[in-house]
Amino acid sequence: MELPRRVIVGDGALTEFPRLVAGLVSGTLLAVSGPNVRKMVQDQLNELATSSGYKLAWCEVAQGDRLHTDNVLGMVRSVGADGILGVGGGRVVDVAKLVAHLAHIPMFSIPTSASHDGIAIPFASLREMERPYSVVATAPMGVLADLSIIRTAPERLLKSGCGDLVAKLTAVSDWKLARDEKNEYYGHYSASLAEMSASIVFQHADGVRRLEPSSVRAVVEALISSGVAAGIAGSSRPCSGAEHIFSHALETIAPGRGLHGEKCGIGTILIARLHGLDWARISDALKTIGAPVRASDLGLSADQVADAVRLAPSIRPERYTILHKLRLSYEEALKLAREVQII
Ligand SMILES: [Zn+2]
Repeated sequence: MELPRRVIVGDGALTEFPRLVAGLVSGTLLAVSGPNVRKMVQDQLNELATSSGYKLAWCEVAQGDRLHTDNVLGMVRSVGADGILGVGGGRVVDVAKLVAHLAHIPMFSIPTSASHDGIAIPFASLREMERPYSVVATAPMGVLADLSIIRTAPERLLKSGCGDLVAKLTAVSDWKLARDEKNEYYGHYSASLAEMSASIVFQHADGVRRLEPSSVRAVVEALISSGVAAGIAGSSRPCSGAEHIFSHALETIAPGRGLHGEKCGIGTILIARLHGLDWARISDALKTIGAPVRASDLGLSADQVADAVRLAPSIRPERYTILHKLRLSYEEALKLAREVQII
């Protein structure tokens, strides 16, 4: 099991930075961030690091591709970093996670938005040849989620995070399918934990729409718990099934349309119908939140949706899901998408 050692969540939690790293790492830390986040937190983090005896170096990344990973790895070596901080959104955290894995140093996740479960998951998804894929990395040693910062991030990011949470319902169904038909290892505990994370979306749909602090906290905690579920399972199985592969297929067919969690949310509605789950309940919850439930909300056509369903099994042939089992034709995919009203 790969699990974080210390998780701190709360308003103004950034000031707890010294407590996050104390006793877990010493010396020089490299903070990886995007330009906007850096402007927002650099001074405060520098001050907190210096006052607690750390040297903090900074490095900016824009995208999670191999090139940036190599650049950051170069920085780790040139500053002699003993640990790495991923400060920002999903891509930044993913790059930091992978570099930490390659450099054999601890990584600390400091999310500034709650757009997906990468915050604490021990796997990183990087883009290479226009095809996002998961690679094995190390779980963050610590997670520091400052809710007052996360609440100031664009609302769309939090709503996207809810799409990545409902995805756990179909991910777990696909995992059960792989257990029953492919004799794959299935962990009840991690599957239940992932399903509990998804249930937060139904309980807090109204609160998320109104950006109520208690609901924002619930979503952040659920995203962290999802990562923990994957850490317990030893794979991303409880968090990622056919709905994720559908989202990756869309990214290949129509790059850059919609956020990861938004595409997964729509994919969940679609895949839920195939598993005989209550897809309308999922769609209603996402609608209440104000998250997209139709392909056109993301600028995607019916044709692209049907193509993505057809292409999905070839994106990750080794991850058996309902789409691998059914191998839907273009026409069948169109019919399904119409049935669940995503086109
Ligand atoms: Zn995801």
